[in-house]
Amino acid sequence: MIEMSLMPPLRKAIDVSGIVQGVGFRPFIYRLANQCSLSGFIANTPVGVSIEVEGAPEKVEEFLLRLPKEVPPLAKLTALSDREIDPQGEQSFRIISTRLDQPAKTLISPDIAVCEDCLRELANPRDRRFRYPFINCTNCGPRFTIIRDIPYDRARTSMDSFKMCAACQAEYDDPANRRFHAQPNACWDCGPQVQLLSASGTLIDIAEPIREAARLLQQGSTVAIKGLGGFHLACDAKNVDAVEKLRERKHRIEKPFAIMVPRLEIAERYCILDDLSKKHLLSIGRPIVLLPSRPEVALPSGIAPGNRFLGIFLPYTPLHHLLFSSGKFDALVMTSGNLSEEPIAIDNLEAVQRLHGIADAFLVHNREILRRCDDSVLRVAAGVLQQLRRSRGFVPVPVAIEHESPPILAVGGELKNTVCVIRGSEAFLSQHVGDLENLESYNFFNEAVDHLQRILEVQPQVIAHDLHPDYFSTKWALEREDLQHIPVQHHHAHIAACMAENHLDGKVIGIALDGTGYGADGAIWGGEILVADYTTFDRAAHLQYVPLPGGSAAIHEPWRMAVSHLAKHYGNDLQSLDLPFLREIDSRRLQLVLQMMEREIHSPRTSSCGRLFDAVAALLGLRSTVNYEAQAAIELEMAAHTSADEGAYPFDLVKEGSTWKIGTRSLFDWLIADIRKQVSIPDMSRRFHSGLALVLADVAAKIRDARDLNHVCLSGGCFHNVLFFEFVLNALRKKEFEVYFHSDVPAGDGGLSLGQALIAAHLLKASANLNS
Ligand SMILES: [Zn+2]
Ligand SMILES: [Zn+2]
Ligand SMILES: [Zn+2]
Repeated sequence: MIEMSLMPPLRKAIDVSGIVQGVGFRPFIYRLANQCSLSGFIANTPVGVSIEVEGAPEKVEEFLLRLPKEVPPLAKLTALSDREIDPQGEQSFRIISTRLDQPAKTLISPDIAVCEDCLRELANPRDRRFRYPFINCTNCGPRFTIIRDIPYDRARTSMDSFKMCAACQAEYDDPANRRFHAQPNACWDCGPQVQLLSASGTLIDIAEPIREAARLLQQGSTVAIKGLGGFHLACDAKNVDAVEKLRERKHRIEKPFAIMVPRLEIAERYCILDDLSKKHLLSIGRPIVLLPSRPEVALPSGIAPGNRFLGIFLPYTPLHHLLFSSGKFDALVMTSGNLSEEPIAIDNLEAVQRLHGIADAFLVHNREILRRCDDSVLRVAAGVLQQLRRSRGFVPVPVAIEHESPPILAVGGELKNTVCVIRGSEAFLSQHVGDLENLESYNFFNEAVDHLQRILEVQPQVIAHDLHPDYFSTKWALEREDLQHIPVQHHHAHIAACMAENHLDGKVIGIALDGTGYGADGAIWGGEILVADYTTFDRAAHLQYVPLPGGSAAIHEPWRMAVSHLAKHYGNDLQSLDLPFLREIDSRRLQLVLQMMEREIHSPRTSSCGRLFDAVAALLGLRSTVNYEAQAAIELEMAAHTSADEGAYPFDLVKEGSTWKIGTRSLFDWLIADIRKQVSIPDMSRRFHSGLALVLADVAAKIRDARDLNHVCLSGGCFHNVLFFEFVLNALRKKEFEVYFHSDVPAGDGGLSLGQALIAAHLLKASANLNS
């Protein structure tokens, strides 16, 4: 009953937008209204929820004060407004159910790690969901990965094939219950079940498949485990043989594995944790966090060879918790269930086929995964979170942009692909699609585009793409002839992504450093300083061009880049330099590479910064060929960590026309001299990192003097190198620049689609202004 007040009642209409569906928002409002003795209702609207409350004015004020402060943990409010309307005099507060006749432009929640309340029930033998692997509530569980269509309710998820039992239905219908309208609500009686399959995919008839899987893992087997966004391949992280076996079978050479540990204290045993990293490990998205491993750590070296960081994450499904509750291991390698660079497997049959010969058994279930979604990877640098791979647990949360825009689709790059759709004043990045190099990836790309457009209910007529004519994404875009195409230069897109994330406008100095991006002059760019805004850029400075002998072969064989720089500076008689790394290289292949460059055959010009890291790594003898992308640069970074040297190698700076060119002759003179003096590799590596950071800051200062700009944006995959990132940041801050960098969106090509979308939006706006 509503208390009577002497004051005339006040009624207010409140509009809320953001992530307010499937996150316990309506029961929260219901409880809050009752606590404040208010009548009225809450209903879904096209953009979020609409609330009307009526009662004593001071109670209405209390409601409005408490609402934003007490929202459930998963709700994210992007706007809240209220206005006074005429009282209606109703007696109670009601929840009005979803109206299907309205387009529901509300936001969909990402997948959420199982909550503490559910974990308590999971461990309680008297609870009806004791050890039930799919326990969830409005505060936790799958969302994005089980959604077929919108609006988000059970009939449009992969839970539609499970009919709730009477007990679950009662919870679902009770506004005061933690599971009110929890769409994936289920229990032992009515919900999905787990099964164990053999290596060949036949059912192993066993009462407790999870216990049996744990036993197999303890014995050194590889078990494929169906998770939220796809399958993982798991093995006991402390079992050297099991780790080696998994590497061999998966054809994954040296690229680090992530490990899952049951609790924060166990993570602390393996890694050095700071407060921010702890917070992210425990966050509801449960990402993989890269952390410095403890030198005395007792894990097989095969987990992250040559890497001082360890990717670590905590359990996020009830199934993970049940596996660890067996007590048979305290760390599992959990790597995505695929072969080398293919997309992660999601379907039971698909997993058995594609992971045949890798997994010894399959722990599967019959709740279908509708959206592939890899684990997200992040780290903490310069005191903030930095996304390296933004996927499960973060997608599809939008990035807010400054202006309203017509719908735009941006299709991203070639490697670490994501796509982006702008709707209104929000940009939605897809999950990590990965490297577009095979049919499976192409299919995944198509799915990601379709699904994003479907859940956002937009059909963009404008499509932004990279300049590279050979990218799958570019070709895909150009095949859609009925759409308007907006080509965007790769490094311009990187800088625009950084600007968007930091809500910058106007011109900035953009430092974009990566491995490969198609340049406006047809060369391969990658060491660029642009003066850019959202519609235009000019190339204020770049690394000097050198040949990329053999094109992509030079990416796999860093020694070719060392040879390219050396031949440019000292001519073709490299043997007289007497460098140790040259002795390792077959002399016929060396001559071939020299001839290729001389005759300009298959040797495009490049200003790539990633390839400069490769060249230095090869020259120092660290690595002449790589097994995965950026391996040489990563090992060069790792080498520098044991050095405290304060030196910095010089670079050459020349101005040609209005463009500064950064040359490497002095760098190589010094490197060769230091190699002869047998200076340690860590010291040389550190001097290189430091020297490059200093010259970039010097060039930025020259551009500032000429153009009167003080905002610098850092973007591109080279900034995933944490040592280099911090050196550049410090060098720029010493010169009193205002420096902006990525946090919520990757600096690498995973963030490219956001920049493309923003540039397209601004170009459209500019042409509309011109025409009006
Ligand atoms: Zn829960
Ligand atoms: Zn049930
Ligand atoms: Zn790039």
